[in-house]
Amino acid sequence: MKILIAADMEGITGVTNWDQVDPGHADYPRFRRLMTGDVNAAIHGACDSGANEILVTDGHALGTNILLEELDPRAHLICGDFSPLAMIQGVDQGVDGVIFVGYHARAGSQNAILDHTWSSRRVANLWLNDILIGEYGLNAAVAGHFNVPVLMLTGDQTACAQASELLGNIETTVVKTALSRMAAECLPPQVTEELIQNSARKAMKRLKAGDTPKPFIVASPVHVTIDFNSSDQADQAALFPDSKRQDGRRVAFTVDDMLAAYLAFQAAVALVTI
Ligand SMILES: [Zn+2]
Repeated sequence: MKILIAADMEGITGVTNWDQVDPGHADYPRFRRLMTGDVNAAIHGACDSGANEILVTDGHALGTNILLEELDPRAHLICGDFSPLAMIQGVDQGVDGVIFVGYHARAGSQNAILDHTWSSRRVANLWLNDILIGEYGLNAAVAGHFNVPVLMLTGDQTACAQASELLGNIETTVVKTALSRMAAECLPPQVTEELIQNSARKAMKRLKAGDTPKPFIVASPVHVTIDFNSSDQADQAALFPDSKRQDGRRVAFTVDDMLAAYLAFQAAVALVTI
């Protein structure tokens, strides 16, 4: 069994504010270690229950957060930027399931640590075929394009609830209870590592038993709608070929399939320089 662990940082144990996930800030080294710990716990649990090949993708910022020297040696680490499949690079390499570690709720959520969708400065809302989603949904849809199911997600209670609502009965690990956007009741890593290991063991067992929610497949062609935070951002994104400006802040386009949608979304957001 080959598993991809796609890791982000905002939903990691103990993270409650932007400084902690910002490479320029003094707090960041502590949280890199905590991120590596959450990822190691998922590797540990997955390997206990039959995973024999693990890919880890570092999906936060420049993809250079996880400490390779502290990573469980049973995994390979995909790191750095840009890779075409970005946060979910490796999902096309014959994996049997995906585990999301350190994920966060979509932009505009209540009681959700550092809620955003891809870019907190740029994206206010994202829809795929009229389904409002966050990064959990976007990346799950790319996994679905390759017919790969999402098995599990770790993060705060809101991220876990949103992912379960969209993807079905996946395993979830609530590592902190968000009280607002930047406050949470946090469990210490000694506790969350145990919880994450247990969830990963269960997720693997369910995968082997055929008891995993189906891959999240978005029907083709895929209609992508993006609300930007401001109209000047939409002015820039509307330069994207074949896009339609729908109102002051909204740009939409239709592409052949989910893989094209993922690449086009990244390109449209990258056009926004402010
Ligand atoms: Zn993120």
